[in-house]
Parts: sequence; structure tokens; C-alpha cells
Amino acid sequence: MGLIVQKFGGTSVGSVEKIRNAASRTAEEWKNGNQVVVVVSAMGKTTDHLVDMANEISEAPSKREMDMLLTTGEQITIALYAMALAQNGIEAISFTGWQAGVKTEAIHGNARIIDIETDRISKELSAGKVVIVAGFQGVTADGDITTLGRGGSDTTAVALAAALKADKCDIYTDVTGVFTTDPRIVKSARKLLNVSYDEMLELANLGAGVLHPRAVEFAKNYGLRLEVRSSMEKESGTIIEEENEMEQNLIVRGVAFEDQITRVSVLGVSTSLKGLSTIFSTLAQNHINVDIIVQSRTEAGAANISFSIKSTNLPETLDVLESNKESLNYQSIESETGLAKVSIVGSGMVSNPGVAAKMFEVLEENGIQVKMVSTSEIKVSTVVPEKQMVNAVESLHEAFELFSGTVKTN
Ligand code: ADP
Ligand code: ASP
Ligand code: MG
Repeated sequence: MGLIVQKFGGTSVGSVEKIRNAASRTAEEWKNGNQVVVVVSAMGKTTDHLVDMANEISEAPSKREMDMLLTTGEQITIALYAMALAQNGIEAISFTGWQAGVKTEAIHGNARIIDIETDRISKELSAGKVVIVAGFQGVTADGDITTLGRGGSDTTAVALAAALKADKCDIYTDVTGVFTTDPRIVKSARKLLNVSYDEMLELANLGAGVLHPRAVEFAKNYGLRLEVRSSMEKESGTIIEEENEMEQNLIVRGVAFEDQITRVSVLGVSTSLKGLSTIFSTLAQNHINVDIIVQSRTEAGAANISFSIKSTNLPETLDVLESNKESLNYQSIESETGLAKVSIVGSGMVSNPGVAAKMFEVLEENGIQVKMVSTSEIKVSTVVPEKQMVNAVESLHEAFELFSGTVKTN
């Protein structure tokens, strides 16, 4: 007997029928004598619909009220899920994030969990109940409701599993595991049986939406083994855990991608020592996340600084740069939208210097223009025209033979 945390994403609880199906997976574990905590997302596209309604009412809705609105989605699912279990003769109790003791920092829309007071959950588990917790939500020290960022239910599940010292954390979703790339876009994508924390963290951060990056961070910090698996098929999924030696031979393990990227260039920046830091600290103070950064010198001795952002942040970014023009001391700003980021990830890259060269070769051969590049020990990211994104992903997936030899088969 052990303690299991299960998480079911939006598609897996997208209808009453699907909630019944998910609840049967919970019932199975419970009937085997385990204690079970279930974390659920909002049903289907509920969160998207709530966002659309808010945007219909206001161009810039208050972030506090957005959190109040979006957390209602998960609250629907927890109640229905508890009812479905009761229907199976299993005693269950549902909790919102705040009832479950999920404490977060006071940042609306993208809060980090700082602590989970698990007393109430533990008490109900001891009483023999299955506990159902609303994902993606928490409460600040002042009692305000927060959300953890889109896709954040994964993080609720992993943080709860860590806090409760669970024996297992299963992330049930609409694919059978983590693939070499998004299986909905590239049909030849293959399921990986094992992925290391570091590789998964890069994949998630670089756009593989199958797991929320902070969930992977938590799992890594607490050494928690995760399994990503299907809520419909009974087959085993992908294990995310500490890297083993065999995997270090696998140079490229996956291709991740993200559309709606914009390049912003700040031209003619004075090259005084603080020029660069002032630009990025000003953006950071305004909570604008900057990704790839490239700097070049002009003939006149000034600097041109380009960086990539999510396109949705463009108006705010331009606003911040323009309203601080004097202190930032630059000549002009340019921006290019309609871009995408395509990245290859693999922990074996660190000892294989030719990987980036091969990536650029493949992109060149396929007529794909590389606008920006960034590398780390285990990834190479490129910014390319959005129209060429899928072509780039497919070409790289094929060139690095992700559909055949490099997939570990145990
Ligand atoms: P959930 O609602 O269960 O949280 P998500 O939509 O957030 O599900 O995540 C699952 C989706 O992630 C899949 O449907 C798939 O399209 C996408 N995805 C992107 N990259 C990958 C990948 N490398 N492996 C598996 N799925 C991926
Ligand atoms: N319902 C939230 C979203 O759609 C959280 C989640 O599904 O993980 O982003
Ligand atoms: Mg998700």
C-alpha cells in the first residue's frame, strides 16, 4: 500500500463520460489498497473560454479578477469528480487549492507555490477518503486567489506529491507519454520510455506543452519520479527521472517548438557599461520575459541589441522601452513578428560538438532562414520564420533519426 498522486488534464476530464473514465482509474488504485490524491484541470477548453469572455469585456482585465475567474474552471471538475467516485461507492472529498493548503507568492497569473500545508489532506486520507484537489490554483498570505500559469495543474500535482512524500506521481493526459516531438504535428514522432529531468526541463521550457516546466523543476528538486501516461490507453507511459548512463549516448532526444515569437531590436544603444543591464533590468521590473539575446556593434561604436519575446508581450515591451527611452539611451526600435523557436534537446550534446553545425546544415538545406541562435550544454535553439516552423521540426526530426535508431527500447 502506498500514496499515489494522479493528475488528469483538461482533455482527460473534458466531459462527464471522461470524468467517469478518469474516476475509474482512481478507483482501480484505491481498490488496490492505495491512498489516492487526484489533481484535476478544468474540463476541456473551459479555461480558454473564460479567457475569451474576459477579453470581450476588457482589453486589459485586472490580473486579480482573471485569477478569480479562471479558478472557477477547476472547481467544477473537482466536485463532479468527487460525485463520480461516490457513484462507484468510494468516499471522496474535493478541495479548492486554498482548502488544500496551497500557498503561493502574491503574483497574479503566474504565481509560484511556496508551501503546502497538507494537514487537511492527510486527515481525510487517514479517514479513508480519496482527496480531489483543484489544480492550477493557490492562495497568497493575504488570502487572495492566484493561478500558477497556463498548464499549471501539473505543478500542483508534483508539488503535492513532494509535500505528501507520495510513492508515485502519475500525469494522465491525452497522449501516451513524452514523444521525440509533438505527436500531433509530426506523425513519425516516437514515444520515449525514459527522459531525464534536465532534458524534460529543456523540452518543457522550449515549448513541449506536455508538462509544465515548474512541475519538472519540483520533480527534479525532490527526486520525484514522474510517469506521463494516457488516461484512455492502459499502456505504460514515459518515466521522468534522474539520467542514467545509457542515455548519455543519445545525442538528440527531442525537438521542441513554439510559435508566436517576436524579435525586438534596440538600435544604437550607447555602449556605456550599464547600457545592456539597464535595458534588461527595466524589462524584468515590468515582468517581461526575454529569451534569446544577441548583441552586435555598429560602425559608429554603438550597440544593437536584439532579443526574442512571446508575441503577446510585444505591446507591453514596446511601451516599456518607449516610455524609458531617455534613460535607456538608444536611437530606435525595430520588431519582427511571425517567428517561431525550434530547438533540439539531448544530454549527449555536451560531448558532441558537431550537433549545432549539423542542425544549421539541415535547416540551410531545407531553405529555412535562421534569425537567432542560442545554445546550452544540452540544447540548441533557433528562431526561424513561423511559416517554416513545421518544416524545420520535421527536417530535424528526420535528420537526427529520432523516429528510428536513437529511441531507447529498454
Ligand atoms: P493536459 O490537458 O493533459 O495537461 P496538454 O495539452 O497540456 O494536456 O499536454 C498534452 C499535449 O502536449 C499533447 O496533446 C501534445 O499535443 C503536446 N505535446 C507537445 N510536445 C509533446 C511531446 N514532445 N510529447 C508529447 N506531447 C507533446
Ligand atoms: N486549466 C488550466 C489551463 O488550461 C491549468 C491546466 O490545465 O493545467 O491552463
Ligand atoms: Mg497540460
